[in-house]
Amino acid sequence: MLIGVPKEVKVHEYRVGLIPASVRELIANGHRVMVEAGAGAAIGFTDHMYEKAGAQVIADVARIFAESEMIVKVKEPQPAEWERLREGQVLFTYLHLAPDREQTMGLISSGATAIAYETVTNQQGGLPLLAPMSEVAGRMAVQVGARCLEKEAGGAGVLLSGVPGVQPGRVAVIGGGVVGSNAARIAQGMRAQVTVLDRNLRALEALDIEFKGTVETIFATSDAVERAVIDADLVIGAVLVPGAAAPKLVSRATVARMRQGSVLVDVAIDQGGCFETSRPTTHADPTYVVDGVVHYCVTNMPGAVARTSAVALNNATLPFVAEIAAKGWRLAAAENRHIAAGVNVHAGEVTHRAVAEALGLPL
Ligand code: NAD
Repeated sequence: MLIGVPKEVKVHEYRVGLIPASVRELIANGHRVMVEAGAGAAIGFTDHMYEKAGAQVIADVARIFAESEMIVKVKEPQPAEWERLREGQVLFTYLHLAPDREQTMGLISSGATAIAYETVTNQQGGLPLLAPMSEVAGRMAVQVGARCLEKEAGGAGVLLSGVPGVQPGRVAVIGGGVVGSNAARIAQGMRAQVTVLDRNLRALEALDIEFKGTVETIFATSDAVERAVIDADLVIGAVLVPGAAAPKLVSRATVARMRQGSVLVDVAIDQGGCFETSRPTTHADPTYVVDGVVHYCVTNMPGAVARTSAVALNNATLPFVAEIAAKGWRLAAAENRHIAAGVNVHAGEVTHRAVAEALGLPL
């Protein structure tokens, strides 16, 4: 199959759909890959590296869209991109169509087959192409939280690890899923005192076994959340109710009772956030202060570590790209229900129930 990789055009998006190592694997499997010149340059993947991996590097993106049988990207297509898609072509990327009627209509009119990373499933009932970005955001949450605790960032001047003779910082993680468990790993590795709160006892049990009691696990009643938040130097919001806005678990009144210079990192901000005082921020201006508490609410945290994120994403997507390329999307979806779950739009129709319902379109 001829696979095309355009350079991402969304503002501040530096990731790339296929890294050179993925290109090499696909070429070894007998496919051809066209990469737009400069597609990976911002994160250290040069055109020369792509050529060495066997790709054709092409400056003319229109040609990549015109000739490729499958386009592999990172972000949802922008208007100029969906106008270039055509019938019989496969688009494999993050789409997030449910809240985006304009893009959905664009994909419908293109006639292409759009397979969304975020709805591809796995045998454990998880979303394997969403998980790598949650891993990145969870780990990063502790890094940015530790930085915000520094004095000149508005923080209380607390070193999360403490030093011999001085208590470490307290970290409360609300939600012990992919984001939360990764945050707990890094915070515990930094020697902070970590508490994870969740309503899913099985998630708490898994963390208890993993950390052998060195991380506290608490059932997330309102009472427990309130106590943990007031006690913490750093609170990480990591809850998810699939398909719904994040529940507001921490009220403004509770934030007001936190120590001055404490920090809230609301990773769940992409679903509206789980603190009442949260509002979306950007990497250019990531924090603001409410009642003396520093808030970090960046909606696309993995973008800041685009190189790690691109490699992590490729590790997860490559097996699916390879399967679709080898079999064609139709056979791949017929034989693999996890790929079928990813097909959101085909030949002018929405084919994913949740997307159709969200937008009031026929299935
Ligand atoms: P996940 O499904 O793996 O984990 C969510 C956890 O929240 C689950 O264990 C669930 O039991 C728990 N939960 C749900 N309701 C709860 C409640 N009322 N109290 C306590 N716990 C509750 O999800 P995830 O992959 O960890 O993602 C978490 C959030 O982070 C999502 O909103 C996701 O979109 C977001 N995210 C944001 C960024 C970013 O850049 N800001 C990046 C990646 C993921």
